[in-house]
Amino acid sequence: MRKPMVVANWKMHGTLAEARVLAAQVRDGLRRTRGVEVVLCPPFTALAAVADALAGSAIGLGAQNCHWEASGAFTGEVSAAMLVELGCRLVVLGHSERRQHLGEADHQVNLKVRAALHHGLVPLLCVGESAHERSQGLTFTTVEGQLRAGLGGVSPDAIGRCIVAYEPIWAIGTGVNATPAQASEVHGYLRGLLSELASKEVAQTVRILYGGSVKPENAAELLREPEIDGALVGGASLQAATFVGIVKKAAVRGANPKE
Ligand code: PEP
Repeated sequence: MRKPMVVANWKMHGTLAEARVLAAQVRDGLRRTRGVEVVLCPPFTALAAVADALAGSAIGLGAQNCHWEASGAFTGEVSAAMLVELGCRLVVLGHSERRQHLGEADHQVNLKVRAALHHGLVPLLCVGESAHERSQGLTFTTVEGQLRAGLGGVSPDAIGRCIVAYEPIWAIGTGVNATPAQASEVHGYLRGLLSELASKEVAQTVRILYGGSVKPENAAELLREPEIDGALVGGASLQAATFVGIVKKAAVRGANPKE
């Protein structure tokens, strides 16, 4: 059985003071919540402060990106090894905002996935199609290309240490989420590919999260789908009450597994 997971992607939001308050509010709001794994991914600048706020809680720390080299002449970059030193256990990789606005390519995402694994970080590999690709019937082709490239050269065992997020670009930050049926169809397809790339057994253990306008109002129906193992939450993770509301919906799913 896959334990549900909810990951907060704070993107480029929050002063240090705001990050401390938000992390403390989430920590306090989830004190008695069980059956779900929660990770907060603040901007790099707030990682240490959020680590302090989360100390002693079950909530994990994650980052939104990393470089593939451990150190070197890469101005402005942060390595996986540096994230581990700060207490991160997970790193979001291949987010569509980085692919779209910063020109991040599949081969770079792949290098990052491998670096993260090498340093003991869990890569959260994001895949997802644009509205145009969906309208052209290219959803499966797009996510398949991204998954195969992102996991290229990764051993079956190591694939078992990865998490995948299906994030249709048209749903990110738009308020329009994929329907449970749309998301479920793509998750099932991705799991089939994971079976091929690793094995059926490994694929059954890999969590596939859905991301794209998840809010407390739609979380329950999305998370009710057996193929949806949790959520990657952007906008709604910036308010403690809404994020905690989503996590509690996932905890209900964790307490009532469908499989
Ligand atoms: C995201 O940034 O990964 C995301 C899913 O954003 P939002 O929840 O705001 O759509």
